[in-house]
Amino acid sequence: MSVPLLNLRPQYESLKSELHNAISGVIESQQFILGKEVQEFECDAAGYIGSKYTLGVTSGSDALIMALMALDIGPGDEVITTPYSFFATVGSIYRVGATPVFVDICDTSYNIDTQRIEEKITSKTKAIMPVHLFGQSAKMDKIIELGKKYNIPVIEDAAQAIGSTYEGKQVGNIGDIGCFSFFPSKNLGCFGDGGMVTTNSEELFHKLSSIRNHGQNPAVKYQHQYVGGNFRIDTLQAAILKVKLPHLNSWVESRRQNANIYYTLFNDLLPKGTLDSLAITLPKEESPSFHTFNQFVVRIPFRDKFLEAAKNANIGVMVYYPFPLHLQPCFSSMGFKEGDFKVSETAALQTVALPIYPEAPKSDLEQVAELLVKTGKECGAW
Ligand SMILES: *Cc1c(COP(=O)(O)O)cnc(C)c1O
Repeated sequence: MSVPLLNLRPQYESLKSELHNAISGVIESQQFILGKEVQEFECDAAGYIGSKYTLGVTSGSDALIMALMALDIGPGDEVITTPYSFFATVGSIYRVGATPVFVDICDTSYNIDTQRIEEKITSKTKAIMPVHLFGQSAKMDKIIELGKKYNIPVIEDAAQAIGSTYEGKQVGNIGDIGCFSFFPSKNLGCFGDGGMVTTNSEELFHKLSSIRNHGQNPAVKYQHQYVGGNFRIDTLQAAILKVKLPHLNSWVESRRQNANIYYTLFNDLLPKGTLDSLAITLPKEESPSFHTFNQFVVRIPFRDKFLEAAKNANIGVMVYYPFPLHLQPCFSSMGFKEGDFKVSETAALQTVALPIYPEAPKSDLEQVAELLVKTGKECGAW
């Protein structure tokens, strides 16, 4: 690939000896499950997020499932969420036996349209699960207001958005439970799978920590208060994350600088007036959000032509996501059809993510922008 969508190597090289020390420290200690490194990382992460409690867990997907379990959400319950996200958002709701209730997205932020949540609230609604998609917070003031009004907990899917803020507050620390992923492509990635849950509620924290360990009673070994699971983060991953966390803000800053490079490039390369037309929509940071650009997603009606051109030019781009969740084959029994959530469906047809990782060379971003502008011209978009 002449221009990769993501290259993890430069970040690894920049911290190589620290990372190797951390990894061999765990191996030398022979303490592979929980222990010191997990506690230290949790403490650092709580400091970063500003939450009272954090727990390292197996993955972002499991963080979501644990949050739903801790709130006793199951069959007969409804959870309001977005149809435009990674599968795990809705997969978690389905897996605990609850019913996902979709609310379409806004066409500028791709996040849940908070104007349309209230009409979907029923006596069965047991949680609202906004996703901070691509690194930009959903409109949390409105969501928190609705949660308070109807006494419904808010679970934040912050998997793509660690470091993002809303009104100056870290995402994941605004609702009742925050769920994070450390999958390698996220803003903070480990060397495999990992995740985290955060909360400010002591009661939820105790329940979540029990659930992380099969629902075991922390005071009585092999006695189980709940049916939990094995949701423990690997000690090795926690040790790696502890090394990486202090660098998160500088990586976020680099992502934002890369976004600015794209803004300048498109501004310079496109004919005047094009950026305000429907021919191309660049991602917008919507105040009071602080966007961390986990992905830089543009909307172009000639998307499929661009995918083809990028493939021929060996340029890595990716569609997040080509199928809205309500139209997934595994949910066909829920009876959704095309046209039910039009904004999400159009986004699935027209969006594409461009390389934005912190160390992406400027010359790569230039190649991507030039190819996109050239393809748009060939398609008659400008
Ligand atoms: C990545 C992601 C998840 C799942 O995280 P994993 O660590 O891969 O299990 C959940 N929700 C969203 C929005 C994600 O992007």
